[in-house]
Amino acid sequence: MAGIYVHIPFCKSKCRYCDFTSFPDKLCFAESYMACVYREMALRQKELESYTFDTLYIGGGTPSVVDESYIAMLVAAARKNFKLKEDAEITIEINPGTISAGKVEMYSKCGINRYSVGLQSAIDGQLRELGRTHTLNQFITCAKLLKGKNFNADVMIGLKDQTADDVKKTIEVAAAFGAKHISMYALTPEDGTPIYSDYLNGELPDGDEVAALYDEGYKRLEELGFLRYEVSNFAKKGFQSRHNLNYWRRGEYIGFGVAASSCINNVRLTNTFDLDEYFKCILSGHLAVIDSEKIDKEGQKEEKIMLALRTAEGLNIDEFNAEFGGDFLKDYGAAIKKTCEYIEIFEGRLKIKDRYLFVQNSIIVEFLRG
Ligand code: SF4
Repeated sequence: MAGIYVHIPFCKSKCRYCDFTSFPDKLCFAESYMACVYREMALRQKELESYTFDTLYIGGGTPSVVDESYIAMLVAAARKNFKLKEDAEITIEINPGTISAGKVEMYSKCGINRYSVGLQSAIDGQLRELGRTHTLNQFITCAKLLKGKNFNADVMIGLKDQTADDVKKTIEVAAAFGAKHISMYALTPEDGTPIYSDYLNGELPDGDEVAALYDEGYKRLEELGFLRYEVSNFAKKGFQSRHNLNYWRRGEYIGFGVAASSCINNVRLTNTFDLDEYFKCILSGHLAVIDSEKIDKEGQKEEKIMLALRTAEGLNIDEFNAEFGGDFLKDYGAAIKKTCEYIEIFEGRLKIKDRYLFVQNSIIVEFLRG
């Protein structure tokens, strides 16, 4: 299985917590940027002609901020340059304040069959604190436009003054308006973002409080029929994200656009984060890669374990042994012994027990030491 990712780095404004590669003041370059992305695809066409791709994910930034015709041309360019399966999962990220009936119609027509909506919170005050440009009402309008379609809603926990009831309300609104998938993830106050000062001032919930919010959210999601399949991802039966599952199973992927990365044949390539540099490279007929790393066997094993233990399906031990040789249970015997209270081995899979999944990092680290 292999996936395609395209990064659209434009946004209406910068959210207070955002440290993604996104440019709120450069939308005027959208047309040239998209032309460069189509060109970048053509530059990698030959190298990837033996691949069949199962998914295309258009993320950002805010892809829904650019003209919908560019998105349609993007999907067409992906199909023209690569073998993208007929029934491929094609996702676009949407900000509720930037959507219209016309856009949704064009997206559907060009083959997009999954939407990921940045709701974050159903409390308008919290949206303002985050610097989001939309309101709850705009989310509801957006969800109505997506009625009957497969869409995800992002829900953020760990916000200033956020209560368990706020988290539950956000989940309930997303579910009531038709979300089939909910990503519930914790705010990470990154140094250099405006929200970092709230963190330094002690205005954000601490680790234990965030874990409690997560537990309450998790319970409500389960009651509403959303099954957890990765620490932050919950879906109604049959609506798991194929694109993200490919990442967690350590499948191959190719990324296009500024800041995008690819991992093909265990070589990870990272594109420049600088928009001007990206334009310069692509327009002169070169890729915009700034870093290339060959992942050795040890690195591959570590990634495989780290990613698999984030998921509810866990690590398939036979598959691991077949891929890397050796005997997992023996080779990682010390880590298994040390973490035995938190993990389970059942039907050939090693998993972190349900109730410890949110604090998986401290458990995974034991396996990285062998
Ligand atoms: S919409 Fe997303 S990418 Fe854009 S500024 Fe906000 S968090 Fe960053």
